[in-house]
Amino acid sequence: KYYEEMTKRKKLFNEVQEAKGNIRVFCRCRPLNKVEMSAGCTTVVDFDAAKDGCLGILTTGSSAKKTFRFDRVYTPKDDQVDVFADASSMVISVLDGYNVCIFAYGQTGTGKTFTMEGIEQNRGVNYRTLEHLFRVSKERSETFSYDIAVSVLEVYNEQIRDLLATGPASKRLEIKQSSEGYHHVPGVVEAKVDNICDVWNVLQTGSNARAVGSNNVNEHSSRSHWYQAHAFFPISFQFLTFYFYINVSFSISILTNNHLFLIQHAMYNGSERLAKTDVQGERLKEAQNINRSLSALGDVISSLAAKSSHIPYRNSKLTHLLQDSLGGDSKTLMFVQISPSDQDVGETLSSLNFATRVRGVELGPVKKQIDTSELQKTKALLDKARSECRSKD
Ligand code: ADP
Repeated sequence: KYYEEMTKRKKLFNEVQEAKGNIRVFCRCRPLNKVEMSAGCTTVVDFDAAKDGCLGILTTGSSAKKTFRFDRVYTPKDDQVDVFADASSMVISVLDGYNVCIFAYGQTGTGKTFTMEGIEQNRGVNYRTLEHLFRVSKERSETFSYDIAVSVLEVYNEQIRDLLATGPASKRLEIKQSSEGYHHVPGVVEAKVDNICDVWNVLQTGSNARAVGSNNVNEHSSRSHWYQAHAFFPISFQFLTFYFYINVSFSISILTNNHLFLIQHAMYNGSERLAKTDVQGERLKEAQNINRSLSALGDVISSLAAKSSHIPYRNSKLTHLLQDSLGGDSKTLMFVQISPSDQDVGETLSSLNFATRVRGVELGPVKKQIDTSELQKTKALLDKARSECRSKD
């Protein structure tokens, strides 16, 4: 019992890792693609000062250049390993007791899926995060006991469904606030996972049960994902609850009491996007609901940036679920994805302006306060446990 207590307290109060600030914005630019090259598109992005986190956009094709600064700038030559190397400290924050939300934002076709999911031969942030998470939690196993379980929830047309529930259609689930103030979904099935394969199997099961089936947009195109439903993955650690939020289209992962959300987030003008696709009836309703979630996420971030007294978390199920991971002392990493092409310069500027606003969001104290009285209590418990062990010997 004492050792259990000791492990719990150590996990809560030790090794609090300091990441620099609570919100970071990384900008990633994809290469010009073949279609753009054959159409004679030119690059409007200047990476001369990329190493210092700056990039310039040639706004008019003339000499006018607008400069932006972010925490990192990735050129088309930077690969997935470079990107994850910088993101990995955020992931570890989750094991140290922080809520973490990692998401990609940007115009369609700019590489959100590529950054978050990647391709089989060249995995993205989601896979690398899980790999890193399990590796570090195992490295720490002598000190900490991490007990991870995954649940898969779908947010579909603003209703939450448990994708791991068996039997007749699962009851409608609601987001509740615990007495400690955490947001959670009571009654969800939790599948214990020990490694990345387990997680993938659970995700597969959840994915098979999704309400959204095939659609009328090219299924092999990542762009077709944009109106698919969200899947939400709470993960329980021994004493903490982790949430894994994966949006099958714009995907996420999360952890918390400490949550880590990894989100692939398309922020777009809904009507414009809807007009570009042949979407009608139920699909149109889905698309509008997803668009609503995405706009709501943008509104929450903007309100945080503007330091508004009211943050509209409750405007969508997505932001309500994410509430603990956007605000307070949670850590947020946003990838703003851009196209290098002169044809996309308008969208690029609007994404960069939004990202600049996000960079100004202050989410609260950088570091959790360590309660020294709690540490004293832990020490007393340890001393007592040790002397009891000795007396038994
Ligand atoms: P989004 O999810 O934002 O709609 P995708 O991730 O599907 O965009 O990217 C569109 C295309 O560009 C894909 O074919 C993808 O492989 C490619 N791509 C995106 N980013 C990169 C990159 N950094 N390097 C190479 N190819 C990329």
